[in-house]
Amino acid sequence: MSDPIITFDHVVKEFKTRGRGANIARAVDDVSLTIDRGDIFGIIGYSGAGKSTLVRLINALERPTSGTVTVLGTDITSLSETKLRPIRQKIGMIFQQFNLFSTKTVAQNIAYPLQLDHWRKDYQDRRVNELLEFVGLSEHANKYPSQLSGGQKQRVGIARALIMNPKLIIADECISALDVSIQAQVVNLMKDIQQETGTAYLFIAHDLSMVKYISDRIGVLHL
Ligand code: ADP
Repeated sequence: MSDPIITFDHVVKEFKTRGRGANIARAVDDVSLTIDRGDIFGIIGYSGAGKSTLVRLINALERPTSGTVTVLGTDITSLSETKLRPIRQKIGMIFQQFNLFSTKTVAQNIAYPLQLDHWRKDYQDRRVNELLEFVGLSEHANKYPSQLSGGQKQRVGIARALIMNPKLIIADECISALDVSIQAQVVNLMKDIQQETGTAYLFIAHDLSMVKYISDRIGVLHL
């Protein structure tokens, strides 16, 4: 039985553009899609096709001009910030440039979402150790990001994305900055996570090859 995590129903997002005349840019044009539990859904599209806007609509950092976005069974189209908070916590993000704190250790970077949410320190430590082991970085717990390779930094990013037990991980160009040999390792780790936890992925890229390798289904955004 299908178990939708994300549903877009005829979603349109327009922006008013600056400059002479009242121009409107349609960043997302009538998108309907469903991502179910455990799905790996790839989205590809050239720069400017609307990929970032789609992600921002899922996080409710943008609201649709028309249509509805449903996340984990809740229509978030006009939900308040307070009600969005627990839903956002169930969405992990992995970024191209890793977005790690350079002044925090590996363990502190991974723990950060739990720390923000005031979880007990003993639970934070236990969970961080579990994830360090899972992504193969236990012996690097006390290092700083500058002491790690690109692939190791992305493993820290993955562990941090997993810490709140997300239902969906949005991977935004998350392997584009890595060497080709490391890309496959990171993608395989992501596949292992999907098999072990049932987490769904939205895998965003401008290039088809890795998306084709990892995804069950692919959506193409046209300019
Ligand atoms: P991608 O991530 O695929 O490169 P974006 O979602 O960033 O594409 O952008 C899609 C289109 O929407 C582009 O034409 C972009 O210029 C426009 N756009 C995105 N955000 C805004 C904004 N805040 N104001 C005006 N136009 C925007």
